[in-house]
Amino acid sequence: MVRIEDIDPPRCPPGADSEILRQLEAFGLQWDETVRYQSARHATYQAALDQLVSQGLAYPCSCSRKQWREHAVYPGWCRKAACEPDKPMAWRLRSDLGLSPVVWQDRLFGEQTFDPAQLGDVVLKRKDGLWAYQLAVVVDDADQGISDVVRGHDLLDNTPWQRQLQVALGLPEPRYLHLPLIVAGNGQKLSKQNLAPALPTDDDAARPLLHHALLALDQTPPAELASAPVTDQLAVAIADWDVARLRPDVFRVPPTI
Ligand SMILES: [Zn+2]
Repeated sequence: MVRIEDIDPPRCPPGADSEILRQLEAFGLQWDETVRYQSARHATYQAALDQLVSQGLAYPCSCSRKQWREHAVYPGWCRKAACEPDKPMAWRLRSDLGLSPVVWQDRLFGEQTFDPAQLGDVVLKRKDGLWAYQLAVVVDDADQGISDVVRGHDLLDNTPWQRQLQVALGLPEPRYLHLPLIVAGNGQKLSKQNLAPALPTDDDAARPLLHHALLALDQTPPAELASAPVTDQLAVAIADWDVARLRPDVFRVPPTI
């Protein structure tokens, strides 16, 4: 299944979705079902927020970041009543009333324990009406029957809010596997923000990159497959995939290609 998480329109230039789909295809990754767009899911996210509000687990907040900048996390000033009810409101989660402590077993990094008080009341819906990732991803994962969440270590500390939301909304708990982050030699994450080049969409360029991706995941792709068609590489990689080979590094500098 492919889900385009386009909840933040200013960060989603037109055509970005079709480029992502072409990149997936270039690496031999195909999907069933129609591609789902989070931008079309407003009513479902609103229903989830309404449920949280009716349970007393979400509240409107008028505070600006500037007002609480001396605190490590938002101190929950609007929990009982919005400080300035005439101003635009964001909606926040009552992290103090949810699952606590939040404990789960990460498949690579082992048992994780978080105190919600250290995390603060995460925003679920922004003042400009846009949905926050935390709520949208939890609702869609459950709706699409996602059993396994596999993603970068940079999202590990988002998991406690997502676990709280799953419990509050009565949704199942998926398994979690957080992966080391590939960083450049200067220690920066490979990302659009750091001007990392986009993935190629031509077959010749994709082949060696797929091989290197498997090496970066501590798997053991046969060297002679390094320039083989991506579908051949993937067939071997799927048959041979072993999560136990992964080393629990937070950061990973790949060998230069
Ligand atoms: Zn507030």
